Amino acid sequence: MKIICVGRNYVEHIAELHNERPDEPVLFIKPDTALLGKEFPFVIPDFSQDIHYEAEVVVKITKVGKYIDAKFASKYYEQVSLGIDFTARDLQSKLKEKGLPWEKAKAFDNSAFVGDFIAKETVGSLDQLAFSLKQNGTVVQQATTDQMIWKIEELIAEISKYFTLKTGDLIFTGTPAGVGRVAPGDSLEGFLGDKKVFDLIVK
Ligand code: ZN
Repeated sequence: MKIICVGRNYVEHIAELHNERPDEPVLFIKPDTALLGKEFPFVIPDFSQDIHYEAEVVVKITKVGKYIDAKFASKYYEQVSLGIDFTARDLQSKLKEKGLPWEKAKAFDNSAFVGDFIAKETVGSLDQLAFSLKQNGTVVQQATTDQMIWKIEELIAEISKYFTLKTGDLIFTGTPAGVGRVAPGDSLEGFLGDKKVFDLIVK
């Protein structure tokens, strides 16, 4: 399986990182080794002094697809969750400055965490889905999916132009404003609507 991530999909997050609003979705891929097992803590890697959390709605693909039309895209996933796209912001800034690929900063081992999946029918409208992340009990990110520049169905259509989607692939749909640094001892809690989908400890 692979993890396809969307960058710059929320206007306020684009502004907080002083990025340009893209004309089309920014896509990057994390390999299967990036997936952090649910039973483990997130351990801060020693190559970064500035690991950020990015809370994102995650979609799990349930069938193979290529050139998927946005109007049929809802047939390609059944479940959603909230995940964290851990990012070595210090490394990413250096790579961006030089125009180099982001992989070292984005696709390192255990850089993708996903909470419990929920049947999409039970979360209400996917275009109005509220989600939030708490760090040590304080809400640090809170948004709804209607703030996305590209909606889930449009993302599936765009992604599948370039990358065949396969059963089990995960799509991280982009982070809203409020990203920030994690520190050892942090507790991170993710909520989709009012349902808690994960508890994660940082070490
Ligand atoms: Zn992200």
